[in-house]
Amino acid sequence: MSKETETDLHRIQVVESSVSVKDVIKEIVNSGKVEDAFYVCDLSDIVKKHQDWQKAMPRIETYYAVKCNAHRLVLETLVAMGLGFDCASKEEMKKMLSLGVPPSKIIYAHPTKKLSHLKYAAEVGVEMMTFDNELELYKIKEMFPTAKLVLRIKYDDPMSNFPLGGKFGADPDTEVEYLLQKCRLLGLEVIGVSFHIGSGNTHTEVYQKAIIAARKVFDTGAELGYQFKLLDIGGGFSGNRGSSISEVGMAINMTIEQYFPDPTIKIIAEPGQYFVISAFTLVTQIHSKKHLTGQNENESTRIYYTDISVFNSLIIGLSGFYVEIVPVKEASGAQVYPSTVWGATCDGTDRVSPETVLLPEMEIGDWLAFEEIGSYSLSIAADFNGFELPHVHAIINRSDW
Ligand code: PLP
Repeated sequence: MSKETETDLHRIQVVESSVSVKDVIKEIVNSGKVEDAFYVCDLSDIVKKHQDWQKAMPRIETYYAVKCNAHRLVLETLVAMGLGFDCASKEEMKKMLSLGVPPSKIIYAHPTKKLSHLKYAAEVGVEMMTFDNELELYKIKEMFPTAKLVLRIKYDDPMSNFPLGGKFGADPDTEVEYLLQKCRLLGLEVIGVSFHIGSGNTHTEVYQKAIIAARKVFDTGAELGYQFKLLDIGGGFSGNRGSSISEVGMAINMTIEQYFPDPTIKIIAEPGQYFVISAFTLVTQIHSKKHLTGQNENESTRIYYTDISVFNSLIIGLSGFYVEIVPVKEASGAQVYPSTVWGATCDGTDRVSPETVLLPEMEIGDWLAFEEIGSYSLSIAADFNGFELPHVHAIINRSDW
């Protein structure tokens, strides 16, 4: 199923800088012409993220993690700004190549690859790819012996909401040397080291420690006759409005200057959510309501039903994480009530708010906005129970257009 409809692709609204996402949302819902949930995607927010990154970490090239949000307009915006791309599958590689990205600007960043996908990478010349285990090396030797390999090491932030180390990464202490020796024996070219400290709630000092761990792998490689020229510091960078890439950048730059002073070593990162999380707002209409009466009016709970769901846009809800819910119609100073917001499907786990949120009295036909919902939302969405995926209404500032 395509995640972008024809209407999505023709709907980039060019706005003046005085027009906010909120203004656009109000205009849409007040038009009376929409019933279905929709995202507003602010492409200028993505442009700004790129500019902020370049200022914060000028030495580190970004390879956007396509899995995070592969909407065409997002990808086209990033392509136009000259980014590289982290692809995890044949489809992702195909998509980026079709948008004019040269194979040299793609890293096939999946340490365990399907054979047919590896074969495709060889056919189209996506040479740079990660690995973390011995059997993968035999597959690569067979299918793509001239690939440029990047050894993914395990270095998790223990506080990360979504750690990846249980699934991927070679142990720097016990596995790295053996794997590099194997690469030597097989005559494979290893060009560098990568890690991913996990997504969500990641900490700067973990990037610093992981960079130091990668330095040791560079040294082990050198002892075995390799001259690595690539360090890939992965993703995990927060893109929420309250976070600061310049602070993270300062600490990472310092560590890189100390441990990788050689400017000929290329340093890349694979940010996903950093680029897109704050660019998307999801808007949905309340179509049904229940009122559970308590001892008094303040204790009674409002239960609202919407047409989004944890299966089609808010999958993070299934992991117990929720985004902030804001009524589109401002009701400043209004009384708030304990409320629960449910998703569209008949599944009992399909709750799109935390157990209780405080909301003003909402009526059927009112709209709710879920802010900062650009990452791992649309890309994971399914039309379970026959509920369509929300459309995307994209906007961009005239100055960026
Ligand atoms: N790189 C790899 C290899 C990943 O697996 C992921 C996410 O799973 C990313 C980059 C993007 O991570 P994030 O969205 O946290 O930046």
